[in-house]
Amino acid sequence: MVNQPKTANIVIVGGGAVGCGVAYSLAKAGVEDVLLLEKESTLAAATSGQAAGLVGQVRNSVERTQLAMWSVQTFSELQADDTANPGWRQVGSLRVALNDERVAEFEGMKAVADEAGLETEFIDPTAAQTHWPLMDFSAAKAVLWCASDGYLQPSDLTMAYVAHARKLGAQFLTSTPAREIRLEGGRVTGVETDAGIIECKTVINAAGAHAFHVAQSVGLELPIVPVRHEFFVTVHADGLVPELPVVRIPDATLYLRAETNALLCGGWEPEGLSTDPRGFALTAEPPAIEPDYEVLGWFAEQLAPHLPKVNDLGLRSVFRGWPTFTPDGRFIIGPSARVPGFVMAGGCNAHGVSGSAGIGRHVVESMFENAPTDYVRSLSPNRFSENSWDWKTARRDAQHYYETYYCLGH
Ligand SMILES: Cc1cc2nc3c(=O)[nH]c(=O)nc-3n(C[C@H](O)[C@H](O)[C@H](O)COP(=O)(O)OP(=O)(O)OC[C@H]3O[C@@H](n4cnc5c(N)ncnc54)[C@H](O)[C@@H]3O)c2cc1C
Repeated sequence: MVNQPKTANIVIVGGGAVGCGVAYSLAKAGVEDVLLLEKESTLAAATSGQAAGLVGQVRNSVERTQLAMWSVQTFSELQADDTANPGWRQVGSLRVALNDERVAEFEGMKAVADEAGLETEFIDPTAAQTHWPLMDFSAAKAVLWCASDGYLQPSDLTMAYVAHARKLGAQFLTSTPAREIRLEGGRVTGVETDAGIIECKTVINAAGAHAFHVAQSVGLELPIVPVRHEFFVTVHADGLVPELPVVRIPDATLYLRAETNALLCGGWEPEGLSTDPRGFALTAEPPAIEPDYEVLGWFAEQLAPHLPKVNDLGLRSVFRGWPTFTPDGRFIIGPSARVPGFVMAGGCNAHGVSGSAGIGRHVVESMFENAPTDYVRSLSPNRFSENSWDWKTARRDAQHYYETYYCLGH
């Protein structure tokens, strides 16, 4: 157990995949005296511990693809350590198109992948079948294969970041809620916890579903909207093995993978459920989520034509949480112009686990590079704090981003 220091160079608030990934990235970049505070008694206790751990690099823009590629490179490096690794399985992924418009979209994505230097290829349904023998690919119009994709265990990833960041000098305090960010003359001077004040010049907000509240506490109103997401895991079944690739069937709004010898299946609901972050306090939990069996049953129905076996598999568990979404579907990363010393690492749009290494890298770039790239600058919290917006539209747009996640043109 680390005693609470009286000072730190940088304090990170939030010990999920993002906060711990940022701590790791900072420590790896040579930044000293990094301290992370987590209010729960363990790390990855909130959204990160509920995630499916899918890591997909095929995206609609070169920047997003490269961010995901950076994450994959980091996961491979971390996996090489046999004491603290993320459970990274580079099993590949199959993206299945069920209509001609989707084939055209995949062709565009392949062109983006080519430009970004990511290897992908179209394979025929017979080849896809050899990758996933239990699936029926007869309805597929095209299948895009990415051999370097895969999945990992989100809690293991978080703990791998922690183990490696600790070796580089970063410190982690659990059961330590940040109660207040101290400002003097409008600039960050410290963080108050139940054990007293930690003086620091920089605070990084990686508080997940509470990132809105932490930002609001320093006078920044940011549209960080929690939107419910859930998936189910079945009982074990013959033919399901961890080496199976990840499958995405966007026309059925579904993703799936093997979870040891069981099936993990989730999807994007056409009518999502968001919550207004102003409806709960920094000191309170977001609303409790009960498994929505109607929605989960709909995922199974959507999957059945492609994987008839799903009808025979009993449900073992349901994972769920409040990943945060933004109205423009982009991360919120980087220093605030309005509150010097306050840096954002949030609004992950359900990419916070797979994106965590890339997010960490972007945080470092936004803080320490003289000339961050246009892309990194475009993720700045200033796009919201320096422009007018309203909650009704922001919440609607953030929820819509979730609902149309796998839609054409997204
Ligand atoms: C069902 C489901 C499936 C998902 N699948 C995937 C997937 O396959 N791939 C993917 O990339 N993403 C996935 N996601 C999204 C992913 O889980 C999130 O984007 C990611 O976990 C966000 O990480 P985070 O660290 O920002 O948030 P969190 O993990 O929620 O961490 C924030 C932390 O901040 C702490 N905190 C809050 N306030 C304070 C305070 N005042 N002081 C100290 N600590 C504080 C919280 O306790 C919490 O531990 C999924 C999400 C869900 C719910």
